[in-house]
Amino acid sequence: MQQINTIGRHNRKKYGQNVYKIPISISGFTCPNIDGTVAKGGCTFCQNDSFSPNLSKTDSPSFKLKPSSQTNPMLEKQIIQLKEQYNKTKIRLEKKFGATKFIIYFQSFTNTYAPIDTIKTLYKEAIKLDDVVGLSIGTRTDSITDEVLDFLVLLNKKIDITIEYGVQSIYDETLEKINRGHNFQNIKEWILKTKQKGLDVCAHIIFGLPDETIDMMKKTVDETIKLGVDSIKYHPLYVTKNTKLYLDYKADKFKPISEKDYIDMIIYAIKQHPKNLITQRITAGTYDVVAPIWCSDKQKQLNSLRQILYKNGFVY
Ligand code: SF4
Repeated sequence: MQQINTIGRHNRKKYGQNVYKIPISISGFTCPNIDGTVAKGGCTFCQNDSFSPNLSKTDSPSFKLKPSSQTNPMLEKQIIQLKEQYNKTKIRLEKKFGATKFIIYFQSFTNTYAPIDTIKTLYKEAIKLDDVVGLSIGTRTDSITDEVLDFLVLLNKKIDITIEYGVQSIYDETLEKINRGHNFQNIKEWILKTKQKGLDVCAHIIFGLPDETIDMMKKTVDETIKLGVDSIKYHPLYVTKNTKLYLDYKADKFKPISEKDYIDMIIYAIKQHPKNLITQRITAGTYDVVAPIWCSDKQKQLNSLRQILYKNGFVY
């Protein structure tokens, strides 16, 4: 039996105890793929304002940051949001699990798509919060700059920094079909640059993208590993309402991946992992999935993946 180098095991080895990730969502952030800078409407699977008219009226402020924004009138509010969200979840995790170490995960939208001063202020505030041992920053490879990376390199001397990049697929035709707004060359270039600067990279890969064959998905795994990323997250592509993918699914233009193919892909991927590569996630799902329906119960998925991995000689 081979123990998979999961993020839980990796963190226990590194920090001597469980470390809990606290997701943070800061208002005023958006994505160049939504605001029209590289594309409009976002990735076809992204639930965002263009497909959520109610969200745009109530939850989403009209002010959105861009790297070129001269001022950020929301900065104070954003710092308060960061502290409030962190502390609320921290207290809950302390009570439930006795947690004492945390990683702040800047999860929603594109977290380096903002003026450099905003980025610096928020991340500096984040590392000052009690019991934080690291930051995980979700972003796109077309929304990172040398200036941001150089700042993160300095921060990395004080606290562990991981940059999470959406790779999704190495195929430009697929990236175009999902309206990703950048190509694989861009992904490759910035992952390599981030690694050269000494920062940890987590790659997100999606199985079941439109018209992708098993061989294509396998190649995406192989090529992403070759880039020397430190950790990987795998997700099945599922359909939720208020997305362009939902419209495609309804019009019979998109066929979701089967559970069997997804499981086969996870087994293939895990078999390719070098020992030091960290597995951060092997599935995703949510109760409001429209299709495939097996994605609506994440716990059930995890249990069957665990069992099948075990039969293949891996302990997840
Ligand atoms: S990059 Fe992320 S936030 Fe931007 S459109 Fe795609 S899924 Fe949505």
